Amino acid sequence: MKTILTGLRVNSELTLGNYLGALLPMVRLANRYSKEGFNVNIFVPDLHSIISPIEGNMKENILRSIRYYLAAGLELNDNIHIYRQSYIPAHSELCWILNCVATMGEASRMTQFKEKSEGKDSVNVGIFDYPILMAADILLYDANYIPVGEDQFQHLELARNLALRFNKRFGETFTVPEESKKQIEFMGIDGGIRIRDLVNPEKKMSKSTLAENSKIMLSDSPEKAKKKIMSATTDSFGSVEFDFKTRPGISNLLNIESLINNLPLNEVIATWKGNDRYGDLKAKVGESVANLLSTFQSNLEKISDAEIEKLFEAGETYANTKANKKLLEVQAKIGLR
Ligand code: ATP
Ligand code: MG
Repeated sequence: MKTILTGLRVNSELTLGNYLGALLPMVRLANRYSKEGFNVNIFVPDLHSIISPIEGNMKENILRSIRYYLAAGLELNDNIHIYRQSYIPAHSELCWILNCVATMGEASRMTQFKEKSEGKDSVNVGIFDYPILMAADILLYDANYIPVGEDQFQHLELARNLALRFNKRFGETFTVPEESKKQIEFMGIDGGIRIRDLVNPEKKMSKSTLAENSKIMLSDSPEKAKKKIMSATTDSFGSVEFDFKTRPGISNLLNIESLINNLPLNEVIATWKGNDRYGDLKAKVGESVANLLSTFQSNLEKISDAEIEKLFEAGETYANTKANKKLLEVQAKIGLR
């Protein structure tokens, strides 16, 4: 039985970009493959979250993370396992062991570490070490597929290398996760999804961007989101064309429209191509975003904390059993047991 593993850090609220680029694709994969017999591990990487500041209340953010998946349409069944990383001590235990397999050289080469530490006087060790913890998250469960954005491919390669090295040194122990190319094929996309900033559409929409009108937060009221779409930067060509290079603003709106309504992009382009009333397109996309948010937000309200706690309870029993078994095998192989 193959395993898919996924998790989103709980540092802050998410944007429409996170929803369309990460949350929704993961939910679609989970719904499809769990029914085909795959294990789908959806975990809250709370230990990864504390490497950087937490906005709001950690406990609430953890519940919200799982609430997001459910509100985005995750269909629960026995193959879907939901757990909190810090409730499975084997993650940090295996991380330590893998720390002794990884080298300073390979960990120092991680682009994310360079980016996140650049120009800072003081950087916590967690920021340096988190790719090794991520390797433990993956290898403990023999995960094959880890649907991540392009920014995480280097960490995935590291996890593969650590698995291969450990297996070679101590004997066959870990399943080596699929390489990045296979991961993309599995996700069924030809490149990454990149929702653009509404004010500066050359850039991607980011939750850390300060400008309010640049991003749509999942907690924005539908009316507020619609206004943001209506005031989105477009161009002065005066006729709708799809081309991210020359018309990133209009192209972004077409892309959002296609993703939200699950329509082929070409179909959406054909509908609007040549139209000289940008306002009409904006009104339509604004409507789609508003509908999405009102459905999503009303779904969120229907999910109680108690329901999520119950999912954690079942998922953590499963995950502890599975992870402890693998950890024991690792400990035995290296002579600790
Ligand atoms: P930050 O500004 O803090 O980096 P972010 O919005 O880039 O926040 P991340 O936490 O870095 O969000 O990423 C969470 C997930 O969302 C990742 O899988 C990432 O690939 C995806 N993602 C982030 N921004 C976008 C976007 N604009 N379009 C599509 N996917 C996105
Ligand atoms: Mg980011």
